[in-house]
This record gives sequence, structure tokens and C-alpha cells, in this order.
Amino acid sequence: METQVREKNIKASEIDLEIAGMHCASCVARVERSLRKVAGVQEAAVNLATNHAHVKYDPMLASYPQVAEAVIRAGYSVIESEDEEAEEHKKAANTHAQLVRFIGALVFSVPLAVFAMFWRNHPEVFDWVNALLSAVVVFGFGDGIYRSGWRAFAVARTATMDTLIMLGSGAAWFFSMYELVFGSRSQLYFETAGVIITLILLGRLLEGRAKQRAADTIHSLAALAPPVVTRVDNDGEHEAALKSIKPGDSLRVRPGERIGVDGIVLSGTCAVDEAMLTGESVPVEKTAGDTLTSGTLNKSGSVLYRATATGKATVLARMIAQVEEAQSGKAPIQRLADKVSEVFVPAVLITALLTFAIRFILLREGAIEAMLPAIAVLVIACPCALGLATPTAIMVGTGRGAGSGILIRNGEALEQAQKITLLALDKTGTITEGRPVVTDMFTASDWNKDELLVYGAAAERGSEHPLGRAIVEHALQTTPLPEAEEFANHPGAGVSALVKDRRVLVGNADMLKAAGAVIEPSMLRQMEALESVGKTAMLVSIDGQTAGIIAVADTIRETSAEAVAALRNIGLKIAMLTGDSEKAARFIAEKAGIVEIAAGVKPEGKASAVRNWQSKGYVVGMVGDGVNDALALTQADTGIAMGSGADIAREVAGITLAGTDLRGVVNALSLSRATMRIIRQNLFWAFAFNATGIPLAAMGKLNPMLAAFAMAMSSVTVVSNSLRLQRVRLPF
Ligand code: ADP
Ligand code: MG
Repeated sequence: METQVREKNIKASEIDLEIAGMHCASCVARVERSLRKVAGVQEAAVNLATNHAHVKYDPMLASYPQVAEAVIRAGYSVIESEDEEAEEHKKAANTHAQLVRFIGALVFSVPLAVFAMFWRNHPEVFDWVNALLSAVVVFGFGDGIYRSGWRAFAVARTATMDTLIMLGSGAAWFFSMYELVFGSRSQLYFETAGVIITLILLGRLLEGRAKQRAADTIHSLAALAPPVVTRVDNDGEHEAALKSIKPGDSLRVRPGERIGVDGIVLSGTCAVDEAMLTGESVPVEKTAGDTLTSGTLNKSGSVLYRATATGKATVLARMIAQVEEAQSGKAPIQRLADKVSEVFVPAVLITALLTFAIRFILLREGAIEAMLPAIAVLVIACPCALGLATPTAIMVGTGRGAGSGILIRNGEALEQAQKITLLALDKTGTITEGRPVVTDMFTASDWNKDELLVYGAAAERGSEHPLGRAIVEHALQTTPLPEAEEFANHPGAGVSALVKDRRVLVGNADMLKAAGAVIEPSMLRQMEALESVGKTAMLVSIDGQTAGIIAVADTIRETSAEAVAALRNIGLKIAMLTGDSEKAARFIAEKAGIVEIAAGVKPEGKASAVRNWQSKGYVVGMVGDGVNDALALTQADTGIAMGSGADIAREVAGITLAGTDLRGVVNALSLSRATMRIIRQNLFWAFAFNATGIPLAAMGKLNPMLAAFAMAMSSVTVVSNSLRLQRVRLPF
């Protein structure tokens, strides 16, 4: 915890750059290396699926131009970001341009291939026509590849995938030209050059579309907010663009409409489907004072509501931002691919060169015969699929999660989650409703119940703990509460405050004892009796004197037992961690079907229980909701926060459930498993593709055109495989 806090204090700027020209895992590695070389850059993560680089740097040492410069030095270009609409527009135009390019190349390649196949060694004029057709495809439609390949070579003195394609197709074209002019014309490969470019263009087109579809997972979330809403002002109701709405505006939502901005109901009643937020599709009744969330669906009824948050401040927008952040990061499993890719391009160049040299010098093949396998090596070797294997799966996986109420912080959290072997569950607010109600009160002889409640509740007013809220709510039903001063929260123990100049403590026996309060044995017996039926009994002391007990009962969530059974079913060991007493804990644990419990533990105790399990070799997942769980959530290999939980719990957790249903944990874990399964498949195919393709090509068993085809298909296959995650079935 402490180191994290310290890190956050270091002044750092973070930027997101959109990069053009990256096509393979090597590109990613090269851009990252170049970024990290800039003095002041602390972190650089490049994502091939989104074409974005996320850079964290010290603004005292580095600046945006220097960071952008590093990208250019690596051989790529930075796309200056515009507003969202312009960007969408440009992307669409881009896809269109890609399509036009490919169709153009195809139109010229077909006659090229036909002539080459059927009229070879016929009138010389066909050879010249072919040279021309091929030139149009290669240097005309393929100019983008040539320009970026050349830029990498000339500006950055490196080779990118485009450089390899440029070398491969260029070699085929120029050697053929040489043969045509000076040679016997028996070996011409103009069609090879043209078809390679055409297929690469096809591959990029398909890859671009598939990537776009992966990104759409997020866009579909953003589309939940309606573009037009009904604003209500002095002269009635008007349609208004969502963008024009400001906090404080009054709006109306009718049955069947989605809610535009976050707000609070002023009048009327409605039933809202909040599945997007909670995964729970039973509509929630809303009346005056209730909150509405942008993007949720009004099923019936009509209400007038006031906007409280708009634009980027809405819950929906923040959720999307979090998912986008998750997608810009990197999963640890990708490190291997990145390492391999770093040495890939140089290794391929050397392999191609060796292939040529061995065939030409040792085997005494003709220059052209020796060159074809070398070209095939250049073309097939690009680790495109390798670069896309992980980020596309993470992208679709996190997007799929967000759509079902599972917010995943980053690739690492998604990857870690499937390794969990032991899952520790907090009790109050996690297994139970966390909406306890006051059931019993006992007073010491000098006090009456009303006084007990007023002092206790006043002291609890500042508490966000469900127990505290239960007491406050109960008291407010009958009486207003006095102000409290010097409120202090003691996580996992209780609260203290000054009420009407009296020092009031509300909490467990340990806390009161530590504060020096005397607790009569009869009180302790009373507490035990309450706890043995699952109630949580809290002591109230006033000016050092024990005034009485307030007991609350919390009900176990309907779905908790089912969730625990499902979690056990996938092979997890389940334990319960609670600050509550052993007796109360047992009562709930039994109902939830949990055997292993650690009760009466303070926040540090929860964390050390987690550490203890870790030292025994378990990979520990922790599910919690409270301030008192934050330490344990941080200590755990994967922290999972309930949606209803305290802000701090959600901040430190790797995964946050939008809802309060423990079955969401089962969904989260199975999504993590599914994603990792897809990533492993992707990596396997990508590695296998290169590992078999390169030797085959070097041995001359792979026609360069076929190599180009395989190359194009490999990336498409990987991205399509990732897209399967969009439809993966989650258990609940
Ligand atoms: P859990 O781990 O089940 O979420 P906590 O660790 O939050 O429970 O709380 C442990 C115990 O500390 C509670 O059972 C209660 O006795 C006491 N406690 C915690 N917070 C409060 C509070 N705000 N008011 C009174 N007692 C509290
Ligand atoms: Mg809790």
C-alpha cells in the first residue's frame, strides 16, 4: 500500500498517442524501446490492437514533442488526435481507402496472374505489359507499404514489417526487370511481386475490420447513452442533444427510453433495467430522490429528473474510460511474445540473406531461383499474428466483461484471475446483503433505549459501514440526531465521536476494552446469545461507561450459496474472512456453505491471512466491499470489489463487479479463463505459423505468393478467434 501511495505522489504526466504504421509484434517492441530511451519516461506500453501507446513520463524531464519524436525515430508516425467525431470520420475514411486500394490492386493483379500463367514466353509484349501491371500494383497501390518501409530504413535505420515486404516484392520486381532487359526472359516473377502486395493489402483490410469489430465492444457501451434527450424548461419539453445537457438541467424520460445522464428523480415513478450496471435484469423501482444512471433503460413509467453528472463525469463514461485504460495496458503473458519479436526482424533478414547465399553460392542455383525462397522467408516471417494474439483477446475480453457488469482494471488482472486457487470472501456486504437492520437493544441500568440509540446513531453518522448506516437509519425513523464532532472510524472495530460533549464509542468488545471501558459480564453474555443466532452485536460506551448493546441482523444474499457452490465446483478452495465475531460468522458461513473461516480479524489481520495462504502456495483471490478489506484486496493476487463497496475497495481491486451479486465473481473468473484460453490458442497458432512457415520457405517449399496468403490469413485468424469472446457464455 505504502509504496503505491508514494509512487502516486511522484509528479507524472500520462499521454496516449495514436501511432500509424505498426503491423506486428516487432513494431510494438521497437516503439516501446525507443520510448523508454527518452530521459524521463517511466513507463511505455504499446498496444497493437488499438494502435495506441500509453506513456507515463516526468514532465520536468520530458515533454510531449520528445515523446512523439521517439515514435518517429523508431520508424513510425504519430497521429495527432482530434475530437472524437472527426476521429470516427477519419477511421471510416481509412477503412474505405483500404478497400479501394485492395480492389485496385486486385483489378490489376488478375490479368497479371492470367498473363503470367498462360502467355509466358509468348510475344515479348506480354512481358512488358506484365511489368507495367505489376509496377502499378507494387508501387502504385503498395506505395503506403513502400513509403513506410523506406522511412523505417532511411530515417530510423531499422527494418519493420513494411521493410520486409518492400524488400521481398521489390526484389522480385527488380530482378524480373533485369531479366527482361538483359537476361533470357525465361524467369520472370512480376506476378509474384504484384500478388504479394495485393494479398498483404487484403490481409490488412480484413485485419483492420476485425480489429474494428473488437473495438466496437466498447462503442456498443458508449451507444447506451441516447444521443437525444427531452429537456424540460419554463416553456415546456424540448428535444435536446445529449451533449448540450448540463448538470442542473431538468429532463424527462419516457417508457422505453434510455436514460441520458446521471441524475436524481424529481417526480414520478418508473422501473429501470439496470442490467448494464449490475448484471441484474429485474427492473428497479425509482421514485423521487432515487438516482438514475446514464445508459440504463426505463422499462415503464415516466419521471422528471435533474442531471447531476454529464459527459465524461457519468458513471457510464467512467466505466468506458476504465475499460479503455485496461485495454491500453499489457498482460504479462505477452512479455514472451514481445521478447521474441524484438529479435525477430533482424533474425529474419539474416535468414533470408543466408537462404539466398547458401542457394546461390553453395548450391550454385541461379540468382532468381535462389531468391524466391528468400523472398518467401521475408514475406512469411512477420510476427503480425504474434503481436495481435494477446491484445485483441484482452480487448474483447474486457469489453465483454464491461457489458456484463465486470470491470477489469487491466490485462494483468484478467490474467491473474484465472490462476486463483483460493478465494477469500468478506462476510458483511459481500456474502450478506450488507443492509443490516437493527433488531435488538439492551441497556445498562443507567440508560434507556432512546438515549442509547441517539448517542450511538449520532456517533455513527459519519460512518459508511453498513452496520453504522443501519443504526443511523433506525434512529432517524423516530428522532432527529444531534451533531457529532471528532468523528473517527476504526476499520474493523468501530467508531468514536464526541456527541453533546460526551465521548461515545460504538464497536466490538475489543475496541471498547482497548479504550478502557468496563464491560459487565452480563453484557458479554447477552452479546454471545445474540451472535449465536447470527446477529452482530455492537457495544455503545458513553464517557467510558458501557451504556448498552445495539444488535443488527444482516441477511445472507439469496445467490451467495449458489455462487459459493459454483466456485467450489471450478476447483477453488473457499474461505470467509470477517471482522465480525466467530459465532455470527459461523452462522452465516454455514448458510453459505463455507467451512473455513477466520473471524474477529482486523483489516491487517485479513491481509496477513491472505499472506499466510500465499506462503502456503495458494494463489489468493479476495472479494470484499469495505474500507476494512482494502489492505487484503491489495495483498491478494487478485482483488475483487463489490459494486456497492467503498471507493477505496474499488480503487485497489483489479476487478470490480458492477453489481452486488456474488455470482458475478463466478462470471468474472470464467471470463478470465475463457480469455486466457483464447490467448493461449492465439499464441500457439502464431508461434506455430512462424516456426513452420520460415523453414518451409527457406527450403523452397513455399511459393512467395502462398506465403503472402498465409501471412494475411494468420492475423485474420487470430483476431477472429479473439472475437469469439464476444459470444462466450458466462455461467450466470
Ligand atoms: P466484515 O469483515 O464482516 O465486513 P468489519 O471488519 O467491517 O466486518 O467489522 C468487524 C466488526 O467491527 C463488526 O462486526 C463490528 O463489531 C465492528 N464494527 C466495524 N465497524 C463498525 C461501526 N461503524 N460501528 C460499530 N461497530 C463496527
Ligand atoms: Mg465488508
